[in-house]
Amino acid sequence: MADPKGLKNRGYTHSDVDERRAAAEEFSGASLESISKYCFSSEAASKNIENMIGATQIPLGFAGPVTIEGDYASGRFLIPLATTEGALIASISRGMSVAEDGGGIRTKVFWDAMTRAPIFRVRDLAHSAEVMEWVTDNMEMIDEAVGKTTSHGKLIDIEMLPNGRSLYLRFVYATGDAMGMNMATIATEAASRLIEEKTGATMISVSGNMCSDKKAAAINIVRGRGKTVIAEALIPKEVVGKRLHATVDSIVEVNYRKNLMGSALSVTLGANAHAANMAAALYIATGQDPAQVVGASMSFTSCEDADGDLYVSVRMPVVEVGTVGGGTSLPCQKEALSMIGCSGSGKARKLSEIVAATVLAGELSNLAAQAAGQLGSAHSALGR
Ligand code: NAP
Repeated sequence: MADPKGLKNRGYTHSDVDERRAAAEEFSGASLESISKYCFSSEAASKNIENMIGATQIPLGFAGPVTIEGDYASGRFLIPLATTEGALIASISRGMSVAEDGGGIRTKVFWDAMTRAPIFRVRDLAHSAEVMEWVTDNMEMIDEAVGKTTSHGKLIDIEMLPNGRSLYLRFVYATGDAMGMNMATIATEAASRLIEEKTGATMISVSGNMCSDKKAAAINIVRGRGKTVIAEALIPKEVVGKRLHATVDSIVEVNYRKNLMGSALSVTLGANAHAANMAAALYIATGQDPAQVVGASMSFTSCEDADGDLYVSVRMPVVEVGTVGGGTSLPCQKEALSMIGCSGSGKARKLSEIVAATVLAGELSNLAAQAAGQLGSAHSALGR
């Protein structure tokens, strides 16, 4: 029997993929016929995966239309969402339709930078202070090392955190329209080699978990990672009653007792109903790194009575998205990005605003369903 490990990625052709899948079928005894059917060339994915044997398909739908008035996203959009959770798109669409009645969703990007934080071993506190001083005095030289690895990535800052014989340097970059994690990692590794050479500190890992990537971390909430975006909408009280079958007070109360107090008491990082749901569906549809949904999960939903109407907003401190690089050039993902005018250069902040608006719509609908006591019945009717 062929060893699947012997059929590792060697630059894909369809026959490589077929051969590898046949070996996997033989090894596992499972038929992989559905996995063998996909619409893109395997060469197109050769930078996205190793040991490719086919593709998994996830149903794709749309929510909307929704009007977004942002600094980068402006107009009416149909939002592509890939999910297997019945009722999710219906709920987001309802939130969008209600937001339409309130004049749409406004969005703003408040911060935009990607981080990578290597950990260095130093001899003692004096050495730590020396390294910190060298870094502060030699930012130009470090910047030069960074510039040799990327033309779009720009070093903004290096934050420093000493701890005993460890020194964490948190590199902060502008990454253009790429989400930036490969870019930041490659640049940081080059800069760290220079720091090692000049200071005698030893880099133990290019990621010392102060970055912090793909983990729920308070540092990202406080400082932001990727884009920090806020979305807001004002829903007239008549619309709340007629379309959401709830009152402004009841939605504000659900948000307070559930999202705010419940999250505080359970020490959740973030305070929202299900921000990860909207982010996951949109990230998967548009070729984002799905593991970074954890960043989007740390979002904060606010609801207030604004002179009788419902003011709702979502603060997303960690929206790690890009419109170039990663999975964004795969054919299906690229088409989904095109649906919202977000394919290619110059579109990453626009995409982040669309993420925030979609999360707001999902939050609004979910909170309203709970205020009206309809969450379970909606899922039984649509999701089972
Ligand atoms: P990437 O595809 O590795 O890099 C983006 C590329 O696009 C760079 O070569 C960049 O050029 C180029 N580019 C062209 N036009 C650009 C523009 N307008 N703005 C920015 N760049 C432009 O993507 P990435 O965003 O850095 O990394 C994303 C990938 O990293 C995902 O696949 C993700 O799963 C993975 N990831 C990696 C790590 C890690 O630690 N390495 C961690 C998490 C996720 P220049 O840089 O030459 O200027």
